[in-house]
Amino acid sequence: MRKGVRVRTIIIGAGVGGLSTAALLARDGHDVLVLEKNKELGGRARIWRKDGFLFDMGPSWYLMPEIFDHFFANFGRKTEDFYKLTRLDPSYRIFFPDEVIDISANLEDNMELFERLEENGADKLSQYLSQAKVKYEYLLDGLMYEDLAGLRSMFSPRLMAAGWKLSILSNIDKLTKKYFDSERARKILQYSIVFLGGNPKNTPALYSMISHIDFNLGVWYPLGGLGEIVKALQRLTEDHGGRIELGKEVTEIEVVDRKAVGVRSSDDFFEADAVVSNADYAHTEIDLLEKEFQTYPRDYWEKKTIAPSAFVMYLGLAKKIENLTHHNVILDHDWIRHFEQIFEKPSWPDEPAYYLCCPSKMDSSVAPPDCENIFVTVPISPGVEDTPTIREAYYDKMVTHMEKVLSTPIRDSIIAKRIYTLNDFSHDYNAYKGTAVGLTHTFSQSAFFRPRHKSKKVKNLYYTGQYTHPGIGVPMALISSEIVAGLIKKDFPAGT
Ligand SMILES: Cc1cc2nc3c(=O)[nH]c(=O)nc-3n(C[C@H](O)[C@H](O)[C@H](O)COP(=O)(O)OP(=O)(O)OC[C@H]3O[C@@H](n4cnc5c(N)ncnc54)[C@H](O)[C@@H]3O)c2cc1C
Repeated sequence: MRKGVRVRTIIIGAGVGGLSTAALLARDGHDVLVLEKNKELGGRARIWRKDGFLFDMGPSWYLMPEIFDHFFANFGRKTEDFYKLTRLDPSYRIFFPDEVIDISANLEDNMELFERLEENGADKLSQYLSQAKVKYEYLLDGLMYEDLAGLRSMFSPRLMAAGWKLSILSNIDKLTKKYFDSERARKILQYSIVFLGGNPKNTPALYSMISHIDFNLGVWYPLGGLGEIVKALQRLTEDHGGRIELGKEVTEIEVVDRKAVGVRSSDDFFEADAVVSNADYAHTEIDLLEKEFQTYPRDYWEKKTIAPSAFVMYLGLAKKIENLTHHNVILDHDWIRHFEQIFEKPSWPDEPAYYLCCPSKMDSSVAPPDCENIFVTVPISPGVEDTPTIREAYYDKMVTHMEKVLSTPIRDSIIAKRIYTLNDFSHDYNAYKGTAVGLTHTFSQSAFFRPRHKSKKVKNLYYTGQYTHPGIGVPMALISSEIVAGLIKKDFPAGT
């Protein structure tokens, strides 16, 4: 390092992970440059505007508000300095084949619901949520913000002691069966793990903490959409002197003597003292580094459980739909077959369970008057065939199904439409097998077992974002960046 000169840090990718790391390092005095391949900021959390509609392209659930508060506090700021949050009520609506159930923001209402679903359902829900709270608080208090590199941290006395509380070796399917007899009660509690890219049988029971998150901490919405988070991160980066270049795809990380000396794009070379990759981890390792510098070469990724891709439809409707709320989950079919078609026998789901977001229900800024902004996501297997013909046929199938579930015609009212699926994820984000969210949170791909924040083969190369600990989701990407910024601070004290 050159003495007295600011550390030049290049960040590859302007997703939530890249921008949040950029903001933290710029605050720490680094000379930060973010290089993003796309023409827009935000990565999976980009927005798309069309004919008066504003679509969040990825995240739509704003969960764990305290993680955002924690992040902004790093800058002496509050969340409300950047956007206005509203708690949603109902938190979400589930369409079963024979009834529609609302999960309320009021716990008492949810107790009543569970009491109706099965004998002593209220007590059982209360006990289930208590164990979920213990897990959440334990993790938040310690593990969540720690760099868990290596097995040593796994055998820390604190974690060993807490092992039983965290149900480390059980899974969500077993845990919900232990507490509930009714299939419906279990399904309600299992749904949220779809956020982790898994299914109830391969997701550790530890993640039942998500029920504490949505039942107790609430489901929130930033007015203007989740794109507001990206704007806030951009502002923080630029206010602290960080720079962002769009439309700059990194093609190589140049390494000399096991140190990254800079990165190349098609027409430039950018010197660096440190490099942080927010780009998909597999892409960074396989495509941007020479084989000898890959900590996780191709065969590592081939053995992993890759999280689903998604079939996403952004639809602007020239009408209102009465029976929707902001977040809607359509569980019209038995989802076991859908999970099989994602993980075991990869194929397009013929009877999908899906999610439908309608933010125009509470935010008039995301759609023209008397219109509805609809965003539909169907999880699909990574790596299935994706052609224009398959997409259109699937779009047709989904619109027909939505018309049935919502008991209203939709097709002729669609005035804005975009389909986004597997090949788009691969093309736009360099996503391995077109995955939407990276690595599934199975036991062997969680916490200590996620790819490291710091390369083992290149001294000054770091990784942030959803592939690393703590994992998938916008709040998790923010935490990952706090961890990475901490590691870099140790390696480059004072940022100069
Ligand atoms: C459909 C969908 C719905 C979701 N819903 C939710 C939700 O409701 N709530 C929630 O919290 N999370 C949700 N998520 C997950 C969340 O969006 C992600 O976990 C998070 O945004 C990931 O951020 P990241 O920074 O790790 O990665 P990314 O957002 O993928 O950022 C990586 C960036 O790197 C760029 N890049 C890649 N290769 C290169 C290269 N060679 N050179 C330069 N740049 C490169 C990419 O273009 C991208 O901008 C959802 C995701 C999807 C796809």
